[in-house]
Amino acid sequence: MHEHSPPPSAARRRFLVTGACAVVTVPLASLMTALPAQAQDLPKIDESDPQAAALGYKHDAGAVDTERFPKRKGEAGAKQFCHNCNLFQATEADEWGPCQIFPGKSVAAEGWCNAWVPRAG
Ligand code: SF4
Repeated sequence: MHEHSPPPSAARRRFLVTGACAVVTVPLASLMTALPAQAQDLPKIDESDPQAAALGYKHDAGAVDTERFPKRKGEAGAKQFCHNCNLFQATEADEWGPCQIFPGKSVAAEGWCNAWVPRAG
């Protein structure tokens, strides 16, 4: 009468295998969605791009010409980076991210330009 049902031990093995796959799949999926697709795909801004150059943008904020861009001079200026700029559209943990000033490009978290504004909140 029960010849078509798998023995209980086989059903349990199937359950365990399915369960193990689910455990592996979930962390991988959350890792892939952790970074916004934009941040990964956008080309890096070129420092010699006319608009970047006009705003004194540098990938390394320490390389900014502070004589030309005194906004980044002194103790307060030295604390300004793309990662704490309100126009940086990535998390502070991302090394590169989109910026509202340079649509279609990504800027370095450690970078800076003269359009820097403190991150709100
Ligand atoms: Fe960096 Fe802000 Fe300038 Fe964009 S506007 S390049 S995030 S300092």
